[in-house]
Amino acid sequence: TDALARAESLIDLTPDYPEPGVLFRDVSPLLADGDAVRAVSEALIEPFRGGFDIVGGIEARGFLLAGYVAAIAGVGILPIRKAGKLPKPAAAVSYALEYGSATIEAPGVLRPGERVLLLDDVLATGGTLAAAQRLVRDLGAEVAGSAVVLELVDLGGRAHAGDDVHALFAARE
Ligand code: IMP
Repeated sequence: TDALARAESLIDLTPDYPEPGVLFRDVSPLLADGDAVRAVSEALIEPFRGGFDIVGGIEARGFLLAGYVAAIAGVGILPIRKAGKLPKPAAAVSYALEYGSATIEAPGVLRPGERVLLLDDVLATGGTLAAAQRLVRDLGAEVAGSAVVLELVDLGGRAHAGDDVHALFAARE
């Protein structure tokens, strides 16, 4: 649609951030635009209508999408956080980064078998989304699906996060 095409055009590019050779995509201008953020939020959930009970937002930009999507879908929110932010993490998953590793955690708020739709802004190598999927399963819940605004296709994220990731836009690195 026009609104989605406009939303895509609002993603800002910064060369050599956060390090030389990386072209960073920033969805801030998209989030700042009312029509764009609504169109994107509706498109993120479109294939999953009726198939999820809660949305899981991955810190930090995934939180913003999760809040909007939860409001329009009438469901609640699972915050998937970087390690050390939650008073009572119920599960933690560590995963490898290019240099070193990262850990994500979630609170113990899911019911057994609850269907979680995972949301994030960008799919890069897929490590973060794959870890979030594992986290949901470790909590005894189910992954209803994974949706991202932008997929960096050359980074091969689907090999980790699954071929069924719903990506609204795709970009080459
Ligand atoms: P991955 O684990 O390599 O797929 O990286 C995805 C995570 O890093 C997501 O949580 C993204 O928010 C973040 N990320 C990676 N590349 C970018 C980018 O170009 N722009 C914004 N976020 C990014």
